[in-house]
Amino acid sequence: MTTFYIQQFGCRATQADGAALERQLLDRGCTPATDPATAAIVVLNTCTVTAAADAQARDAIRKLHAQNPQARLIVTGCYAQRAPEELAALPGVSWVVGNSHKPQIPALAASLALVGAGLAPPPDLICAPEEQTLIPSEARTSPPPSVFCEENLLFPPDSPDAPFHSFVGARHAVPALGKTPNLDEKSPPAQILTGNIFDHPEFLSAPIQGGESHHTRPILKIQDGCNNRCSFCIIPFVRGKSRSLPPDAVIREIQRLTAEHPFEPANANLGQPILAVRSSDREIPVAQALLPVPAFSFTSSTSSNSFTSSQLRPAREVVLSGINLGTYGRDLSPRVEFIDLLRRILDETTLERLRVSSIEPQDVTQDLIDLFASTDRIAHHFHMPLQSASDRILAAMHRWYRSEHYARRVELIRDRLPHAALGADVIAGFPGETESDHAATVAFIEQRPFTYLHVFSYSSRPGTKAASLPNQVPAATIKRRARELRSLSEAKSAAFRRSQIGRTKRVLTLHRDESVGTKHPGAEHTPALSSNYLRVQVPGIHPSNQWQDVLISAEEGNYVVCEPASTLRESSVYSASLR
Ligand code: SF4
Repeated sequence: MTTFYIQQFGCRATQADGAALERQLLDRGCTPATDPATAAIVVLNTCTVTAAADAQARDAIRKLHAQNPQARLIVTGCYAQRAPEELAALPGVSWVVGNSHKPQIPALAASLALVGAGLAPPPDLICAPEEQTLIPSEARTSPPPSVFCEENLLFPPDSPDAPFHSFVGARHAVPALGKTPNLDEKSPPAQILTGNIFDHPEFLSAPIQGGESHHTRPILKIQDGCNNRCSFCIIPFVRGKSRSLPPDAVIREIQRLTAEHPFEPANANLGQPILAVRSSDREIPVAQALLPVPAFSFTSSTSSNSFTSSQLRPAREVVLSGINLGTYGRDLSPRVEFIDLLRRILDETTLERLRVSSIEPQDVTQDLIDLFASTDRIAHHFHMPLQSASDRILAAMHRWYRSEHYARRVELIRDRLPHAALGADVIAGFPGETESDHAATVAFIEQRPFTYLHVFSYSSRPGTKAASLPNQVPAATIKRRARELRSLSEAKSAAFRRSQIGRTKRVLTLHRDESVGTKHPGAEHTPALSSNYLRVQVPGIHPSNQWQDVLISAEEGNYVVCEPASTLRESSVYSASLR
């Protein structure tokens, strides 16, 4: 039985892809390994949002290869899509599979397993014509897989006309990062399987729950890709066009997650590709992996020791995630509005709390804010990327709003939900950012009731418009500005925590290893999370995924402590007084 291990990097969308991959590998009879050192196949699911993320992935590959030289390393994810040749050149890598072909990884892993058992020819032969069924013919939107083998290449590997995303062996890869590719005959070159991401409508997703990150709250990716072109962002080029999980599938999945006992709706079509992803002008059946929810989505030597599936079921809170959630449903036919999806979730499921992970400011409408304010079943939490408050920089970033529009959204939220969490992403050191631009961002944030910031140091991404802009900001300046913004973020978060002292909250207990800020150093405490994203340490040891009504009593470090306002409950009845 083939053992596998998935090592995850990156954002929630990438983690959802990893959860789906795990589901597919389990369905093929593979067995999860407790650590990469004992796995026959290791899948690295990479991120490429910054140069640091790239470096982290390369470092992990080197370590994994040193730790387990016999393992077949399959590198996938956003970095694999952006720069497959770089990764293929690293020793130990067997295959580099871009996001465009991620759904083919289970078939590839099965082939590698057969090869390992001496039951199949070398994996090169998976590119034989009869094997082209690896991509279901109905799923193809581009010509049949010239990507699968060198003989089928549209361009010879060394051709200067070869597209960036093409099938090449590392033997033909450009030496990356000043290192010589791994070309010795003892170590065969890695194979690369990528295609034009814009030709791929697949929607790969499974809920993230449990696992080594100890997610008590399932994260459900319902949208992928992005049609915007923010000048700093590589994501559209590695994740492709915006596409959405149809609303019926979202509802079905949340119904599964919130069921007391595992069940499958009658039409779930288990074990098969179950979904049709529609574009506006056609319907394309595709293989995807939104299958029954695993109690533990990722393999880990430590994750399962204190989780039980009964603790995670039914899910009390589900987090909706996506690359650009506000654009949810615009690709579907008929078009679906994000707000209508939220209403359907409220009407058609028993979910007790729904959280929206992030939404662009232009998509935070008065109607959406009113919906949030009308119910306690949607977490009072808005995460709106700001990036900069200098209009000059926002224009250079190709952002769709200016600071006054963003400020108006903040006012609308505060008018309706004075205690809501309000978070933002901010980039320090975008090309051309002057001290005065930076000061404008700092002043804007200081004057508004942000409750936390995610601060990013600008990182030039090859292929983006911003990478070629003049006036790149020196690294030391970027670092200093990021430090100032982080310090401002801490001050804002502390002010928010203090403002909540004396308030009663209904909080959801989390796994004790789940990261919600610094652990309480003294007596035993259990981390918990409020609707407004307040990180609370509840006295005592409690199971995860339980509601507690608490009175916020003090701020300590980067969390708050509380006193019990009632005994442990499992009631799904919410009280308006507990907002
Ligand atoms: S909206 Fe987000 S994902 Fe899309 S291009 Fe802009 S930053 Fe990137």
